[in-house]
Amino acid sequence: MVKRVLMAVALASAFVSLSQVRFEAAGSIRYQFSFPEPQHRWMQVEATFPDLGAAPLELRMSRSSPGRYSLHDFAKNVYDVHAFDLNGRELPMSHPDASGWTVNTHGDVVTVRYKVYGDRLDGTYLAVDTTHAHINMPSAVMWARGLDDRAATIVFNPPAGVRWQVATQLHRGSTAFEFTAPNLQYLMDSPAEFGPLVIRQFSVGARTFRFAVHHAGADGELDAFVRDVETIVKQEGAIYGEYPEFEPGYYTFLADYLPYAMGDGMEHRNSTVMTSAGSIARSRGGMSNASVHAISSRSIWTVPIRRGVSGWPKASPSTMARSFCSAAASSTSLRRLERLAIWWKPPRPTRAGWCDRRRR
Ligand SMILES: [Zn+2]
Repeated sequence: MVKRVLMAVALASAFVSLSQVRFEAAGSIRYQFSFPEPQHRWMQVEATFPDLGAAPLELRMSRSSPGRYSLHDFAKNVYDVHAFDLNGRELPMSHPDASGWTVNTHGDVVTVRYKVYGDRLDGTYLAVDTTHAHINMPSAVMWARGLDDRAATIVFNPPAGVRWQVATQLHRGSTAFEFTAPNLQYLMDSPAEFGPLVIRQFSVGARTFRFAVHHAGADGELDAFVRDVETIVKQEGAIYGEYPEFEPGYYTFLADYLPYAMGDGMEHRNSTVMTSAGSIARSRGGMSNASVHAISSRSIWTVPIRRGVSGWPKASPSTMARSFCSAAASSTSLRRLERLAIWWKPPRPTRAGWCDRRRR
């Protein structure tokens, strides 16, 4: 069982906010992401698995991604895979199938190093270049069978000479580049944008929303966009009656509006990825559709649903997060969630007062 440890960053504070929760435990898995040659579009990953027993260490790359409903076989972009013991001696590995590597004989600790290629900027894959790293975890993270419940620490190491910051739903760690996840399911559901971000923040009642964007537009365009994000988030709060409690203490929109981005929107437990080749000055629909999931994917299962939608299966948020990863391609619950988003598609922009502007 994962041990949850509360770390009060601001000890003088009268309370410990959720944003200051870190997950640390014996056996925590540690990932290092580095970018020695971002111009060649690959990321170096080092993963250390401690406190291992004698059983073979079965390392896996995911075949699918939360919410994507299809197989992607992310191992296809992984290469140069090596395993080492505590003394840096390389350990023999087998490659029993396309998505797996097995270290049969090892000590208490194994460190795996590999490269992963990524040039697709969307909600599914990894994108690395000299302007940023946009990371969907299943496309990049090698995990070990049987260690799903262990906490994980992720460290982002920027390339030399850049001023990048990280935006993610992962919990903050001890530095600006270190984050934690309570288990594998949460880690896999936590995309990250690592680049020259602009982060704006607003609150609706007790809830905080962050809008982290990497774009090529003007500040005024961003300000107008964030005002519209706030408007529609308020309307979605009105539709559902209340907001869920977002676990890191805030909800994060991760947006890339860049000429080389694919058009995509992918919602997660406490964040949403939005990518578009369009200008931030003109894009609203994708944000609207993605943001409804910010509320619905948590609210449906945690607060009474309004407007006559009842009798849907009730599952705890953790059960639902698990279903995202284990049965994304066939989940009835997810299909219902998509239907709800489509159902609310016309009312949301109308309630937000966008319709006249969108017609112009
Ligand atoms: Zn970016």
